Amino acid sequence: MLVYNTLTRKKEEFKPINPPNVSMYVCGPTIYDYFHIGNGRTFVMSDIIRRYLIYKGYDVKFVMNLTDVDDKIIRKANEENITSAELTERYEAAFMDDIKKFKMKPADVYPKATNHMQEIENIIEKLENKGIAYNVDGNVFYNVGKFESYGKLSGKNTDDLEVGARIEINQEKQNPLDFSVWKKAKSGEPYWESKWGDGRPGWHIECSAMSMKHLGETIDIHAGGNDLIFPHHENEIAQSEAATGKEFAHYWMHFGFLNIDKQKMSKSLGNFFTARDILNQYPAEALRLLFVQSHYRSPLNFSRELIESAQKGTEKLNNLIRLLLKGIDKVDGSEVEVDYENKYKLFTEAMDDDFNSAKATSVIFDFVREANKLIVENKNLNSEFYQKAVTFLRATAEDVLGIIDFNEFNIDDANTDDSWILEEIEKRNKAKYDRNWKLADEIRNSLADKGFILEDSKNGTSYKMK
Ligand code: AMP
Ligand code: ZN
Repeated sequence: MLVYNTLTRKKEEFKPINPPNVSMYVCGPTIYDYFHIGNGRTFVMSDIIRRYLIYKGYDVKFVMNLTDVDDKIIRKANEENITSAELTERYEAAFMDDIKKFKMKPADVYPKATNHMQEIENIIEKLENKGIAYNVDGNVFYNVGKFESYGKLSGKNTDDLEVGARIEINQEKQNPLDFSVWKKAKSGEPYWESKWGDGRPGWHIECSAMSMKHLGETIDIHAGGNDLIFPHHENEIAQSEAATGKEFAHYWMHFGFLNIDKQKMSKSLGNFFTARDILNQYPAEALRLLFVQSHYRSPLNFSRELIESAQKGTEKLNNLIRLLLKGIDKVDGSEVEVDYENKYKLFTEAMDDDFNSAKATSVIFDFVREANKLIVENKNLNSEFYQKAVTFLRATAEDVLGIIDFNEFNIDDANTDDSWILEEIEKRNKAKYDRNWKLADEIRNSLADKGFILEDSKNGTSYKMK
């Protein structure tokens, strides 16, 4: 299995430290607001990577942190005249609701910075003892010049960076690139006691501490959106590796941005849709399908047309599932050869190649076409056909990609499956009788969108799958 590693800038064979265990840390949300579908892309794609590792037989420990100490949190809490804790409590609950709506598998741990102050202090203390962090009157900085391989993740050169950093002059820093690991308390801000006085941790050190606490000093996969490569992940590496003397993470995975009109979707630009807003309008499976149809590293431009076309895709899948569930308990029928071995092989080959979910998804949609055709052509197939088809879709489209959810179907659904189509045909007949051609066409087109083609003959109207 190949995984693209940002650190080495190439696809590498995936070799976990302690198979079958895999440790995976994803930089989660700052809980000061509802998250948007750009964040959602990162969360869902990390969920899919985790699910595929499980499919491959790995035992994955998946940690996603919640950033609950941060400038943005303090600012918003002050605006609303509430404490930071009250604000983060509200948005933590909202986050949990939204990822459930997104059908993400819950993480094994959702650590929060406020619960890791001791671990954070311990790392800073180690860095200070090694002469890498320095205290200036209660503000502690990390001395970038002391970490030789600084820049190895982002490929940035410290000389170039210094030129940029000089613009922001800070008298307290020894070097313009040095960054805060502990910030002295200011009035109106939450603070914690520490050996350097009251203050709060810097953002980067929070993730170093939580990753080490829950997964160990060296982990298999550390992931996040592309915007985190620099400085967040670069700084996490510098702090962690300088403190432990060990490699912090083997594989660094980064997700491409979800864009709107070629611009990164972000809170600050105001060009965002919250996940809860979109998930109230469309099924989670449609948004997940939209995500998996692109490679996780590529940028993806979001639009209404795209989500609507993804929704049509999930409807095609759902229509097939209704037919399959209807046939699953059949007592007799004819046999039909379907080469499942090859289908599983194509699916795994795609996902083994740095999680090429777009290709894996096309294997599923090829199967949808093939299965529909078999059902239409052979009216009487045996139950084995239906069972194997369901098993294949459950293992791939449901368990790995999460683009269908068998829990959404019940037996009644399956049994009364086509009654709604027959009702639509009735409505169309009435429209034709009323010479309301516009409505008749609308009904025909709407059924076609859902994958059902109407055929008029002198015996009446019947339908077939597209
Ligand atoms: P934040 O709450 O801003 O810290 O972001 C949470 C996660 O979402 C991080 O891993 C970010 O890198 C990621 N992220 C933020 N914006 C986008 C976007 N437009 N597309 C994809 N991922 C994003
Ligand atoms: Zn992080």
